[in-house]
Amino acid sequence: MPELFIGGRWTAAAAARVRDIRCPADGSLVATVDEGGPEDVAAAATAAREAFDTGSWPHTPAAERGRLLLRVADLLERERSALAHAESLDTGQRLAESEYGTLAAADCFRYYGGLVAAGNSDRIPDTGDPEVDSRVVHEPVGVCALITPWSRPLLRSAAKVAPALAAGNTFVLKPSELTPHTAVLLMRLLAEAGLPAGAGNLVLGTGTEAGAPLSLDERVDLVSLTGGLVTGRRVMAAAATAVKRVVLELGGKNPNIVFADSDLDTAVDHALTAAFQNAGQLCSAGSRLLLQDEIHDRFVEELVARARAIRLGGPFDQDARSGPLISAAHRERVEAYVAGGLAEGAVLRCGGSRPGDAVLAEGFFYLPTVLDECTPGMSVVRDECFGPVVTVERFRDEPEAVALANDTLYGLNAAVWTEDAARATRVAARLRVGTVWINDLLARHPAAEWGGWKQSGLGREFGLRGLAEYQETKHVWRRYGTRPRRWFE
Ligand code: NAD
Repeated sequence: MPELFIGGRWTAAAAARVRDIRCPADGSLVATVDEGGPEDVAAAATAAREAFDTGSWPHTPAAERGRLLLRVADLLERERSALAHAESLDTGQRLAESEYGTLAAADCFRYYGGLVAAGNSDRIPDTGDPEVDSRVVHEPVGVCALITPWSRPLLRSAAKVAPALAAGNTFVLKPSELTPHTAVLLMRLLAEAGLPAGAGNLVLGTGTEAGAPLSLDERVDLVSLTGGLVTGRRVMAAAATAVKRVVLELGGKNPNIVFADSDLDTAVDHALTAAFQNAGQLCSAGSRLLLQDEIHDRFVEELVARARAIRLGGPFDQDARSGPLISAAHRERVEAYVAGGLAEGAVLRCGGSRPGDAVLAEGFFYLPTVLDECTPGMSVVRDECFGPVVTVERFRDEPEAVALANDTLYGLNAAVWTEDAARATRVAARLRVGTVWINDLLARHPAAEWGGWKQSGLGREFGLRGLAEYQETKHVWRRYGTRPRRWFE
């Protein structure tokens, strides 16, 4: 079956191009899929435009839209094993991580389904005039271009598709060209749940051939991207030509701040997970470790011992705890950051190379790496390298910890470890980020907004604001018993 979904039909790419998808863990061929381009984008945008302008979805009662989303949540749970398997083959990530992502995607549909099924949120301002009925209503924005990355691809698609549909929009989804399979499965489930033809469309393809034309397309009203900072800037510039609505969920360089009075065993354990889960390829990764002077040596020693013990392997290796990087090019990028950090004075405590294990030779593996004695000016500290690399910086006191944590272009999330509740509250209040974890890490809830300050993005996913991004407001003022105004008399 062809993999593009346009106007309710599965179709091959207009230019008959295809792409081999290979598992990053061993280079094996997963499948050959259709690869779309500008013509397919135009067809999908036209289908979404027609479905919005003349179709039923935008006018379907909110409760009914909510019920469809709840059905999709059930279907995602029913298909969880196939979805997790597909995500692991595309990304090489541990099956357990893909299972987590699949259930989180189902939770996202369940949350937005429940939210809109519960009733509308239109406000009725009190004008004080009994002859006036003044309402502010929420309406869908229109056609949404939803562009997603290869990290946690199903969850990232769900985080856009669910609120876009909940609000009554139609959409064109463009997943990463490296990880298309869960998007294909999601579209099948949407169709099975009864989404009208044209309301949801899928185009596979690269950023240049499919993503860029989609964000420029005149039929599109809103572009929502999850991706890197450079792509975010490009998408924002493209959207500016027609003043499109833009939602950007971009990168992070997230500080994990550990004070000397914290429960060190627990903090080491979480620091390890935050740095090396999914080979560090999470926007939320705790890739900058800030340690108070007194605990620095002991903390690094324990972290390094545990990082060395992480077993690498393919997604279905039950004993493996972390997987490969997504591609050869991405591994080279990570290697360049590590080399740059060492040249700038960082001290390598572990990792810093590809594993020697012959079984892993065909995959894009890289050893969990700890770079110590880092300073804020190093490129490996400043840039998101998106790999299994954690940089360690020292701080003396609370003001220095806050200053170091905020000394970044990014502002996605941060963590604070301390037994002093007052200090935790003070530090949390000063961090310029979208999420702060206190004595925890990586925790999420579909009802809690997720997104970045500064150059980590614009707008929010999840929560009430995640829905509001896909809504326009309209003030409708109705006067009963209208009479002339007589302004000029
Ligand atoms: P990327 O920016 O390379 O690609 C993201 C998507 O944009 C892909 O579908 C790609 O094809 C498309 N794209 C590329 N160029 C484009 C263009 N000019 N116009 C339109 N679309 C274009 O990112 P990636 O390498 O796939 O993913 C990793 C990045 O995603 C990291 O920076 C990571 O932090 C970020 N991310 C952020 C979050 C978050 O919630 N903030 C979540 C996951 C990943």
